[in-house]
Amino acid sequence: MYVIYDDFYLKHSNGPGHPENPNRLVAIKEAIGRWDLKDRIAFWKPRTATGKEVEMVHDKDYIQEIKDLSQMGGISYLDPDTAVTEYTYDCSLLAAGGCFEGLDLIFDDSNKSHKFFAVIRPPGHHAFRNHGSGFCIFNNAALSAKYAQARYGIKKIAIIDFDAHHGNGTQDFFYDDSNVFYISFHQYPHYPGTGNFSEIGRGRGTGFNMNFPFKGETGDPDYIAALLDIIIPVMERFDPELFLVSAGYDSHYLDTLSSLNLVEESYYKIMYIISYLS
Ligand SMILES: [Zn+2]
Repeated sequence: MYVIYDDFYLKHSNGPGHPENPNRLVAIKEAIGRWDLKDRIAFWKPRTATGKEVEMVHDKDYIQEIKDLSQMGGISYLDPDTAVTEYTYDCSLLAAGGCFEGLDLIFDDSNKSHKFFAVIRPPGHHAFRNHGSGFCIFNNAALSAKYAQARYGIKKIAIIDFDAHHGNGTQDFFYDDSNVFYISFHQYPHYPGTGNFSEIGRGRGTGFNMNFPFKGETGDPDYIAALLDIIIPVMERFDPELFLVSAGYDSHYLDTLSSLNLVEESYYKIMYIISYLS
């Protein structure tokens, strides 16, 4: 498996004391270093996405706004939780480009592995076409889906989001799209307020959006049951050519951003099932 990472991702800052901080990636990188199977992974450098590529998903004016705020320096807020600082624009382009680089690797038939893990920041699933929110600047999952479709002619894509929060931005991009199936497991009711069962898509996209709104204290038995009993049969029918996973780890029982009860092994189980599907 390829692990996309660059120390430059550590430069984006939301200001002091913020939960979305560089230590997230430092911890992941250190954990991979301790991992018994680390010989089976290859660290890979990201590339920088172009403004044109980001326009597949975001409005030109919004992209320019992030660029201008970064150039201004200091700290600007898109919402009370989401800051733009000196390196935010460049880190955001590198985050999107990291996903593109990963996709280029897995779609290259001469490469052995067809999986990648993008260890990137800032995150993306609360980012909308014309505004960022909830720590998110550019929507990396939406950009990945659009890039795979444009570059590799992929039609059907599943996005599975197990971050503790509902990926309202990602859902919004594909809400009336029957080719990109968005599935989210999250605490509910909780930030950002969306993600109920009843949100199933719109128009041609009806039935291609699925939310699992879990109460606080939910642990992996419910996640596994949902995956085995619902997601596997639904995905076998949908038959996507690519799985994208929004892998936020704030559903861990020690993370104070949610009161979900996943443990380290839960993520192994979840990814084992998604890997089976892919
Ligand atoms: Zn989250």
